[in-house]
Amino acid sequence: MYNTSENGYFGNYGGKYLPEVLRGAVDELEAAFKKYMQDEQFLAELKTLQKDYIGRATPLMYAPKATELLGGAQIYIKLEGLANTGAHKINNAIGQVLLAKKMGKTRIIAETGAGQHGVATAAACAKLGIKCEVYMGEVDVRRQQPNVASMELYGATVHPVTTGSRTLKDAVNEAMRDWAANYSNTHYCLGSALGPAPFPDIVRTFQSIIGQEIKEQAKEKGLVIDSLVACVGGGSNASGMFAPFFDDTSVKLYGAEAGGTGPEAGHNASRMTGNAARDGIVQGYKSRFLLDEDGQVAQTSSISAGLDYAGISPQLAMLGMSGRIKFEAILDDEALNAVSFFAKNEGILMALESAHAAALAMKLAPSISKDKAIIINMSGRGDKDVFITSPVFRPQEWKEFLKSELHRLETNADVHSKY
Ligand SMILES: *Cc1c(COP(=O)(O)O)cnc(C)c1O
Repeated sequence: MYNTSENGYFGNYGGKYLPEVLRGAVDELEAAFKKYMQDEQFLAELKTLQKDYIGRATPLMYAPKATELLGGAQIYIKLEGLANTGAHKINNAIGQVLLAKKMGKTRIIAETGAGQHGVATAAACAKLGIKCEVYMGEVDVRRQQPNVASMELYGATVHPVTTGSRTLKDAVNEAMRDWAANYSNTHYCLGSALGPAPFPDIVRTFQSIIGQEIKEQAKEKGLVIDSLVACVGGGSNASGMFAPFFDDTSVKLYGAEAGGTGPEAGHNASRMTGNAARDGIVQGYKSRFLLDEDGQVAQTSSISAGLDYAGISPQLAMLGMSGRIKFEAILDDEALNAVSFFAKNEGILMALESAHAAALAMKLAPSISKDKAIIINMSGRGDKDVFITSPVFRPQEWKEFLKSELHRLETNADVHSKY
């Protein structure tokens, strides 16, 4: 009953609050999604890409040392970080880009904040041979150069957005403007389980492979699942992990959102647990948002770029308000601690986003009985965070490394310019 929206709504949340110029685009997309999700050929092609390109199924790994140290539930980790490109975002990108090709589109556009969705979309477009353009706030372009470099390597064009705060919400506005003008040949590949209908349904559907695999793998291993834990930015990895379990109330669902440096407004991205959150309609959908007194999207903060967002999936907002999903805010320091804990004890370097889920699981596990399992979704791997974690874990050495790199580049010692 929870799995699909009713006319785009999940209880009070969701909808498509769009200007008339975008109605045609979303209506066409909705019809195509319905059609191709029942098309054997489409589903077979998607399955092959999931297996041979993304590398699915990703493992469900037992974490024996963490289990012993925490002294409660058996801890298992779903390794989405082993998916090609290093995170779950590719599951959605490959699904939407394949759908767009079936629809006859010749151009893909996407928004990106930290750059992870831009990278996944650029990779999917390279794989499927379709032109890709990514809108990214100018501030983010400057902060996230490694991801800009990857997108360009995959052959995408990155458009820096210079309006507004020059960050993610401005990139979304530009992408919507482009889509409204060009949807006859262009698909807008939106990156999380939010935005106007039908995007929350589409993104959850393509990410649900995570939860479906967990169901099968848990059965094979004979696990009794007590809880599933995922981090929640926009809500795509959590929706994908949870969706096949929404109706199974014997399994508890936990969402970890960014608690940043503390509960004051502007210091976190706590849309479900913070007292600054309220209902709002922003960028085409109704959900819980962090808004200022004028109803404008408020400043947010988190050490993990992927959780630093003022809105949340309308479906997860509904399930959070009804109590089906329990949300907790995890502080930056707790996430950093979880990164070290799982790296040292299990040989797994988690993305800072995923480490929020891991930190929440570390709190929950001790009070769950030893014959039950708690499963953490490791949405991505932590290699991408080396520019954020190194200045924290080894500040002096990192500073010296950057200085010497700069010196090397400025003295042109061994720079290759042939490409
Ligand atoms: C983008 C991202 C997230 C947050 O996005 P959701 O839509 O909430 O899943 C979490 N983990 C990683 C590794 C990401 O790249």
